[in-house]
Amino acid sequence: MRRRLLLHVCCAPDATVPWPALAEDGFDVKGFFYGGNIHPADEWERRMDAVKRLALLMGSEATIVPYEPDSWLDMTREAASEPEGGERCSICVGVQLGAAAEYARANGYDCLCTTLSISPHKNPGRINAIGAGRARAAGVEWICRVWRKNGGFGLSAARSVKMGLYRQNYCGCVYSMRRPGGTDKAYERRD
Ligand code: SF4
Repeated sequence: MRRRLLLHVCCAPDATVPWPALAEDGFDVKGFFYGGNIHPADEWERRMDAVKRLALLMGSEATIVPYEPDSWLDMTREAASEPEGGERCSICVGVQLGAAAEYARANGYDCLCTTLSISPHKNPGRINAIGAGRARAAGVEWICRVWRKNGGFGLSAARSVKMGLYRQNYCGCVYSMRRPGGTDKAYERRD
């Protein structure tokens, strides 16, 4: 019997490589989209729709957490002024993977993994360390992967275009949004 794996999906394009790869590795893969970090609500709607669409394309399904941006803002407020890649992102990753680990535990999954390590703008070592900690606390196995290896990010970009999936141009939260003339760091990877 295939082992049940919950895949934390940060966005549909980033999941186009991990999802089929884990299925090929023999896991029974289901998706999990947290989304409370996404701003504004209509952007969440677009990303959530894309995750549902990808799940159908994968012949599987995805759990969508009800949209609760206020609780995410409360949990990350102390690090609001941090640059992208800093402490705010570590807290954000912990919140997302903590929610996924808890869901995995409550619903009888064997393993947990994330799509986040496909990003060339994030630290895969930190992501895997945070994920392993949350998985251990929930009693599920962490599947450690660095998806951006071997051209993973470029492949995900090409696949998402081919699949017609919505692709955003900023990481997700209000702090990562582009502001004309603003000084915040733009999220350039998908331009
Ligand atoms: S930039 Fe991305 S990872 Fe960092 S806090 Fe915002 S949504 Fe989370």
